[in-house]
Amino acid sequence: MTMTTLRCERVLQLTLAVIKPDAVAHPLILETLHQKILENNFIVVRKKDLWWRRKDSESFYAEHSGRFFYQRLVEFMSRQGPMIIIYIPCLLYSGPMRAYILAREDAVAHWRELMGPTKVYRARYTAPNSVRALYGLTDTRNTTHGSDSTESAKREIAFFFPEFSVQQWLDKEEQRFRAGHVEYD
Ligand code: ADP
Repeated sequence: MTMTTLRCERVLQLTLAVIKPDAVAHPLILETLHQKILENNFIVVRKKDLWWRRKDSESFYAEHSGRFFYQRLVEFMSRQGPMIIIYIPCLLYSGPMRAYILAREDAVAHWRELMGPTKVYRARYTAPNSVRALYGLTDTRNTTHGSDSTESAKREIAFFFPEFSVQQWLDKEEQRFRAGHVEYD
């Protein structure tokens, strides 16, 4: 019997993943999510911890403006008011978040599958092992964000990492692969 080895093209995709403030506030959950990223064979291309100003939050979620949860979402995702309230442990204050650029095959769909549905109760019923089912607190405080298409990944990566060029990274990766500098099984 002859064995044929199929050598597939390596097709890496990039996505933007965000660990939201509710999860960053818990070091164990943050670490668990980081490990989940690595176990799922994502390449961590970039990673940063950051705070949003209110206008960043409003702009990122502009498509939801006018919806009943918009103000709640904007406030949850951004630092409110003057620095002095840092010292007041109240709900007005929301913590930092962690943003990742992740790469792998089908990165966009794979990360969204790991996250599970937007609504935590639905996640618990339909995808009980998903991140949102396991760690989500409410529909707003639902642990993670992930781009929903390659187009939105490009736009959202530019929002969080303005210095990063998706096209340049993919071109470089392609060159490395063709030159045989990347192992593929
Ligand atoms: P996803 O984050 O799953 O892509 P959307 O883009 O529809 O979902 O919504 C963006 C974010 O807005 C959600 O992650 C969640 O934090 C918040 N959100 C969406 N729908 C609701 C809702 N019905 N109630 C409260 N918050 C919501």
